[in-house]
Amino acid sequence: METRPFGKKGVQVPLLGQGTWQMEQDPRREAIAALRRGIDLGLRHVDTAEMYGSGAVEEMVAEAILGRRDEVFLVSKVLPENATRRGTIVACERSLRRLRTDHLDCYLLHWGSRHPLPGTLEAFEELREAGKVRSYGVSNFDEERLQEAVALAGPGRIACNQVLYHLAERHADTGLVARCQEAGAAFVAYSPFGSGSFPAAASAAGKVLAGVARAHGKTPRQVALAFLCRQPGTFAIPKAASRAHVEENAGAAGLELTPEDISRLEKAFPARRQAELPTL
Ligand code: NAP
Repeated sequence: METRPFGKKGVQVPLLGQGTWQMEQDPRREAIAALRRGIDLGLRHVDTAEMYGSGAVEEMVAEAILGRRDEVFLVSKVLPENATRRGTIVACERSLRRLRTDHLDCYLLHWGSRHPLPGTLEAFEELREAGKVRSYGVSNFDEERLQEAVALAGPGRIACNQVLYHLAERHADTGLVARCQEAGAAFVAYSPFGSGSFPAAASAAGKVLAGVARAHGKTPRQVALAFLCRQPGTFAIPKAASRAHVEENAGAAGLELTPEDISRLEKAFPARRQAELPTL
């Protein structure tokens, strides 16, 4: 699985990782086995959050990474309502306990908070100095908020911005991907399969996608993942709760789309600028 640096000072992280939102609703044993299979196949970036299943998903992730913590790039997120200076530290310590680890590889503010951002960033810095998080970042931050966070945190401190990005939602291509690159922040595509609404095979755009997939002997989802990670500094975290799905997703590794493929896909799934950064 190809890796690239995650953020300015970041470690090498695989382009494809694994999401875990709503995994508490999946058959537990199968979902944990799927996560473990994904790690075997190189999907070592595991994304979770205190919000997911109100902590239950972090406990599932703990089981999945048991005995192999060092293989995983582990990310969790603080809820905005908890993101005061003190609240962020307490939330992180709760997540660490549930995840049965002494550190996170990256800790994110889940989305913009009513609590002042400087306090959250001070807490992130305190956690980093204490070794409880190796890096920190943001999620669902538009260009303006990202700029503010970077200015407050200092150069190279914001390791990533995790954002909604899939074939049918390419708002980020109208500026945010470029701003992340300029800031040296990894751009992490969440909901890369549209969170359950993947382009229909019978649609005009779905046919273009299928054509590219056929030409490479790959599946449409594998092409989608390669497309979403086509730019420097970009990553994707598909969620899958079955081994078959995980294996298909990991099979995107090594797929190199040609400039012609990319331009066909960009035309079939045009980037449209929305009034606001779309989120889920
Ligand atoms: P997603 O990854 O776009 O799609 C997940 C859906 O696709 C699930 O129904 C899954 O089914 C299905 N799927 C996965 N692989 C498949 C395959 N090979 N063939 C057919 N179906 C497949 O959706 P998501 O969970 O919304 O997003 C991914 C992750 O991003 C989340 O889990 C979470 O970690 C993160 N996220 C972050 C935010 C944020 O605000 N920061 C928001 C949303 C999501 P099964 O589960 O049955 O395998």
